[in-house]
Amino acid sequence: MLNYLAVMKIVIFLGAPGSGKGTIAGRLAEADAALRHVSSGDLLRDAVKRQTAAGVEAAGYMKRGELVPDAVIGQMIGDYLSGMAGECTVLLDGFPRTVAQAEILDAVAGRCGAELTAAILLDVADGIIVERIAGRRVCPKCGAGYHVKNIPPRVAGICDECGAGLVIRKDDNPETVKNRLAVYKAQTVPVIEFYGTRGLLRRVDGAGLIDDIVRMARRAWA
Ligand code: AMP
Repeated sequence: MLNYLAVMKIVIFLGAPGSGKGTIAGRLAEADAALRHVSSGDLLRDAVKRQTAAGVEAAGYMKRGELVPDAVIGQMIGDYLSGMAGECTVLLDGFPRTVAQAEILDAVAGRCGAELTAAILLDVADGIIVERIAGRRVCPKCGAGYHVKNIPPRVAGICDECGAGLVIRKDDNPETVKNRLAVYKAQTVPVIEFYGTRGLLRRVDGAGLIDDIVRMARRAWA
C-alpha cells in the first residue's frame, strides 16, 4: 500500500536579534510555496494583541527584552506546528532560543512526525546588529518589515503592502536591545552548540546583501 503520510521538515533559523532571521526566512517563503515561515516573535505579538492568556503572560517579558517562559512559547509552537497540514518545510524563526526549547522541539517534531533538517546560523557582528535594529521599522497593520537604509519603503514611513504608517517596535529601544543581546549570548548561544554537536549546524554570513544571504541560506539545507 502506498504511504500518503505528509512529511514536515523543519529548518531552524538561529542568530542574534537583528541578524535578519525574519527577513531571510520571509524572502525564502515568498519565493517558494512549499516553504512556510513561522516566527515565534510574530506568534507572540499576535497573542499579545489578541490578549490571549499566553499573550497576557508574555507581554511583560517581551517589553523588558527577556525570554518568555519556555513552557509558554513551547506550547504555542507545538500547537501551531501540530495544526499545520500537508507536506511542507517550516522555516522556524526565533525558536528554539534555549536548550530547553530545543528539547521541547525534539518532542514536538517526534509527535508531528517532522524531521529537523538543519539549523542555519546567520552570523553577524555586534556593530552591524546595533545599526540594523536602530533602522528597523515595521508595519503595525500587516507586519511587513523594513529598514530605513537597507530595505526602505517606496514612500518614507509608509508600508508598501497596505499603506499604514510604519512604527519602531516597542522592544527596539536602545535599553531593551542591550538586554536582548545579553539574553541572546547567555541563553541562545548554547543552542548553537546543541545543533553543532548533532551535525545540523550551517553557518551563513549574514552581513552582506540580502539576495546573496537568501541564496546562501537556501543552499545551506539543499
Ligand atoms: P523576535 O521577534 O524574534 O525578536 O522576538 C521578540 C521577543 O519575543 C523576544 O525578545 C522575546 O521576548 C519573545 N520571544 C520570541 N521568541 C521567543 C522564544 N523562542 N522564547 C522566548 N521568548 C521569545
